[in-house]
Amino acid sequence: MSTQPDACPQCTMTEIHRQGAYHVCDTCGYEWPFERAEEGAGDEVVRDANGVALASGDTVTVIKDLKVKGASTVLKVGTKLKNIRVGSGDHAVEAGGVMLRAEFLRKV
Ligand SMILES: [Zn+2]
Repeated sequence: MSTQPDACPQCTMTEIHRQGAYHVCDTCGYEWPFERAEEGAGDEVVRDANGVALASGDTVTVIKDLKVKGASTVLKVGTKLKNIRVGSGDHAVEAGGVMLRAEFLRKV
């Protein structure tokens, strides 16, 4: 298993080596960081009811009463949820162990 790419993105020669967090091309000296594949991997932006992008650590309020899956409790409209975690999928927002749909939340 290797993350080393096959060729230099600059001159396409294949003689490359690693130096710290970079690949270095032996032919032209071009340096580029590891993990280029991560660019674009986090493309999915989770947006709240107003289309505002949410990020982990944000505080949101609930904009409608929400039944909590697997629990008998209801999150009341106006409930403030601090330090959310943003993931992906249908219920992309996690707050206090509860998974919620981002469109029922509003960033504070
Ligand atoms: Zn090169």
